[in-house]
Amino acid sequence: MTSKVLLLAGTADATRLAGTLVDAGHRVTSSLAGVTSTPSPRAGEVRTGGFGGAAGLATYLRGERFDAVIDATHPFAARMPFNVAIACDEVGLPRCRLLRPEWQPGDGDRWVDVEDMAAVPAALDQLGSQRAFLAIGRQSLGSFAACPQWFLVRSIEPVTADLPRFESVRSRGPFTLDGELELFRRFAIDAVVAKNAGGTATEAKLVAARRLGLPVVMVARPRQPLGSTVVADVAAAQSWLSSPA
Ligand code: NAP
Repeated sequence: MTSKVLLLAGTADATRLAGTLVDAGHRVTSSLAGVTSTPSPRAGEVRTGGFGGAAGLATYLRGERFDAVIDATHPFAARMPFNVAIACDEVGLPRCRLLRPEWQPGDGDRWVDVEDMAAVPAALDQLGSQRAFLAIGRQSLGSFAACPQWFLVRSIEPVTADLPRFESVRSRGPFTLDGELELFRRFAIDAVVAKNAGGTATEAKLVAARRLGLPVVMVARPRQPLGSTVVADVAAAQSWLSSPA
C-alpha cells in the first residue's frame, strides 16, 4: 500500500530515503528547515521553513492529510524530534525516528567524552590544545566565543560567529581519510572536536585523528523523546512504513 508521508529532512539519509520511498510509489513531502542555501536535490515534493512549533506542525499535518511521519532530522536536531512527537500524538499519526547508530571508540582512539558543546572549551584546556579542528557546524560556534585558542572551522555555509582567532574551510561531506589527514597536517591540528553524529559520511576525521594520535573531544547527542519507534537506516525506515504503528 502506498502512503502520503511527511519526511523531516536535513540529512543525507533523508535525501536517500526520499528517493527510496518515491521509487516504491509513496507520495513524499520532504521538509527542510531552510538553513542551507543550496540543499541537495531530492525526489518528491519539498517544502521549506519552520512550522511554528509543535502546534504549527499539528495544524499542517491535519491540513495535508498525511498517513505517516518520518523524522530523519540530524541526530543533533534538539527540538524537531519533540515537536514531531507532540504533533503526531495530538493528530493521531504514526511516527518514526530515523537515527543512525552512534560512533564508538576503537583501539588507538583518544576520545574525551563531553555532555554538550558548552563543556568543550574546558576539555580543550585540559588537553592543552591550541589548534583544534571544529567539525561541528557553524550554529554551535557560539560556545567558543571566549576561547583564546586558534580554531580551524569547517562548515557548509560561511562562518558568521564571532571567534577571536580562526580560519574556515567551506566544504560538504562525504570526506575522505586522505583529505582529512592532509587537512590536519597542513593546519598543524592538535585536537578534533566532533558531534557524535554516527554514519560514514563524516567518519574519516575520526580515523585521521587515530592515525595521527590526536585527541577527539566527542560531544554526546541531545536526548530524544520517549516512546518513539527508532530505526537505524533507510531500509528499516522503508520497512516501518509498510506497517506503521
Ligand atoms: P532543531 O533544533 O531540531 O530545530 C529548530 C527549529 O528549526 C525547529 O523547531 C523547526 O522550527 C525548524 N526545523 C528543524 N528541522 C526542520 C525541518 N526538517 N523542516 C522544517 N523545519 C525544521 O534543529 P537544528 O539543529 O536547528 O537543525 C536544523 C536543520 O538542520 C534540521 O533539519 C537538521 O536535520 C539539519 N542539521 C542539523 C545539524 C545539527 O548538528 N544540529 C547538522 C546537520 C543538519 P519550527 O518549530 O518553527 O517548526
